[in-house]
Amino acid sequence: MEQHDCLIIGSGPSRADLNPIMYVGLQPGGQLTTTTEVDNFPGYPEGTDGNAMMEDLKKQAERFGTDVRWGMVTEVDFANKAGGYHTLTIDGETKIQAKTVIISTGATAKYLGLPSEEKFMGFGVSACAVCDGFFYKGQDVVVVGAGDTAAEEATYLAKICPKVTLLVRRDQMRASKAMQNRVLNTDNIEIKWNTETVEIQGGQSVETVVVKNTQTGEIENIPASGFFVAIGHTPNTDIFKGILDMDETGYLTPTLGKTATNKPGVFAAGDVADKVYRQAVTAAGTGCMAALESERYLSEFH
Ligand code: NDP
Repeated sequence: MEQHDCLIIGSGPSRADLNPIMYVGLQPGGQLTTTTEVDNFPGYPEGTDGNAMMEDLKKQAERFGTDVRWGMVTEVDFANKAGGYHTLTIDGETKIQAKTVIISTGATAKYLGLPSEEKFMGFGVSACAVCDGFFYKGQDVVVVGAGDTAAEEATYLAKICPKVTLLVRRDQMRASKAMQNRVLNTDNIEIKWNTETVEIQGGQSVETVVVKNTQTGEIENIPASGFFVAIGHTPNTDIFKGILDMDETGYLTPTLGKTATNKPGVFAAGDVADKVYRQAVTAAGTGCMAALESERYLSEFH
């Protein structure tokens, strides 16, 4: 069986320099490849294209000896004893062993599932206001959702957009009271209660959001050039259930201030362990932490 020092599951913008093996999974490059432009990653004064950035990071990782491979890790058998080999199954058949494993499988943004939403993905439809909001400066936008993320995104957008319409499907929000108050006290946010999205319309990009009041059945057309979906994320942690510590929503919960999980030599970086910040730069930062912790761990057992 192949044996290595370090294996990375997932390919977000995390850093490593241990001649690691990296399995990229179904979406090589992760969520960043679904955004057209990344404007807030340090070092790109003019912004960059999400795909191009991930391609650059891949080349950079390869220059440091990362062996990038296609394949899904379908099963994990983590060693309980410090220094032991972890065994991973790739695509349900090949087994491979590594002394350290860095999990950077990310999270997947939830979408409403409307065909028109898919059609305008990257052309007005976004799941991240902090990443894409800038492109809608001076334009009216719609945010859907009623949790802390939706509240945060709506208040963020209200600073740069003349009008933000927040679509809440029930007659109340799930967000914390403090976040709700921020939304309610922002003049240019209009909340539409009991409202669901029917369709997104436009030519090349989003122009109108068609909504329906679930109590009255009334249909309304809201002019907007941005449609931000903020209805939650699903961390990609199915294969770690019952093995690694996670919170009730499935996010991995490494030791506070570190990336070490409850299994020795297994580290978690990026969105898979972060439901608050979710930025490329924070993912890269925790990726760097995981690489350093991994290096220190390996030096203890060599
Ligand atoms: P949540 O799961 O908390 O909220 C999702 C929201 O989306 C709910 O209000 C839900 O409505 C709504 N929703 C779900 N599906 C649909 C749909 N099909 N149509 C319309 N609305 C829909 O996700 P968040 O991303 O907001 O937050 C996740 C976690 O992260 C929470 O624990 C939150 O507290 C935390 N967080 C903390 C932050 C902070 O501390 N600064 C910032 C961001 C997140 P309904 O209420 O009707 O179910």
